[in-house]
Amino acid sequence: MKTKIVATIGPASSSYETLKTMAASGMDVCRLNFSHGNYADHQEVISNINRLNQETGNFVAMLADLQGPKIRLGDFEEEAVVLQAGERIYFVCEEVLGNKRRISIRYDSFARDVKPGDQVLVDDGKITLKVIESDGIGSVLLEAQSYARLLPRKGVNLPDTIISLPSLTPKDLSDLQFMLDKSVQWIALSFVRSAVDINHLRKIIDAYPAKDKPGIIAKIEKPQALENIEAIIDAADGIMIARGDLGVEIPMEQVPMIQKKITTLCQQKGKPVIVATQMMEAMITSTRPTRAEVSDVANSVLDGADALMLSGETSVGNYPIETVQTMQQIINQIEDYDGIYYRHTKPKNTDNPRFVSDSVLFAASNMAQSTSAKAIILVTHSGYSAAKLAAHRPKAKLFVFSGNDFILKKVNLLWGANGFYDNSLEDTDKLMEHLNEKLKNAGLLKSGDEIIHVLSTPVWSHGRSNTVRLGSVE
Ligand code: PEP
Repeated sequence: MKTKIVATIGPASSSYETLKTMAASGMDVCRLNFSHGNYADHQEVISNINRLNQETGNFVAMLADLQGPKIRLGDFEEEAVVLQAGERIYFVCEEVLGNKRRISIRYDSFARDVKPGDQVLVDDGKITLKVIESDGIGSVLLEAQSYARLLPRKGVNLPDTIISLPSLTPKDLSDLQFMLDKSVQWIALSFVRSAVDINHLRKIIDAYPAKDKPGIIAKIEKPQALENIEAIIDAADGIMIARGDLGVEIPMEQVPMIQKKITTLCQQKGKPVIVATQMMEAMITSTRPTRAEVSDVANSVLDGADALMLSGETSVGNYPIETVQTMQQIINQIEDYDGIYYRHTKPKNTDNPRFVSDSVLFAASNMAQSTSAKAIILVTHSGYSAAKLAAHRPKAKLFVFSGNDFILKKVNLLWGANGFYDNSLEDTDKLMEHLNEKLKNAGLLKSGDEIIHVLSTPVWSHGRSNTVRLGSVE
């Protein structure tokens, strides 16, 4: 059980009992989607997850997802506005009740940013309109490219347009304050366009007076993000391949190869990667996924995802628990295949201040492969070593020890990482013995098992990993 499961929480799954059963069935991370729900709803989920972790000793992480500059239509006079192919309509940047002549778009600089010929995609890309002309101030004439039934407040995607909206909207800034106050482990940023968006969010997080900082997940769903993908992976702490919007913003047939390229790049750079959207969509209403969905989950494990994400399946679906169970069964089956393990990336840059720890972690994973060691036992303070080690995809079990609960929850997103609390400040030999003993008592190791320890010495210095030792359990 190496590949992790992220489940979006909503009305179908927010109760304590449901969350507890989902965690016992394989859920590792709960996603709170700030495109839906109010603070009272999110607070209820957070309290339930905190209680669950306290009562069960689990380290279920929280990933809070900022809506970002999502563009929507305004409200309508009637239920829907219907256009035939070739019919024209104005989109205006002021609040009016939409009708067959004009509809509001909630994007102030829309008329300034678009140019004739740009595509305007509505409702998950189901409807395509084309820009005919813009007055450059507040009104744009569009032409329907086929029959279109427009509904109020539906999302709009503009794949051809350089959108001038800020990466964090006023709503995002107030949601971010709430997330930081609640100590979530991961914050996802939607519609990232370049590393600048990540650096801007990082500055706000760094200025917040808390010792434990959430990691930033960049959601890849814009063509501009694909152009800047390496810089975005370098700037972020993790990546989400947000296939829903991505498949609207670029031709959807390109998404599978992009998924493979991004998962490989993330492994090489030692950053976790989540594959998201429509993985088990049929299970929103059915007790079984389609065979194509089973293959999609399996292929995402084979591609090398750290985690697979469920959205509507667990937030509003009829079978949130069964969905997690079924996803876990598919993952278990595919993890029997040896081809997913030991995807080493040799550390290159000797000038990198992390070169020593990167080399130690690379050596530990190589050693695990050549000795078939049962486990790698890692002590981490920031979680950095856990991410780097996980990225090598060792087949050996990966036991991660830390004296910080927040870090143990944070690393729960990482491929294979299995967290344990320990804050001993023993000398090296005693600490290794003590950790072996703990794992033996938990029934996870037995006498004679070959194991590899990775830690920083001297132990009290809480420095970066600099020591790797092969041994066996007494
Ligand atoms: C997506 O578009 O695939 C996605 C995960 O984002 P959201 O659920 O926020 O639309």
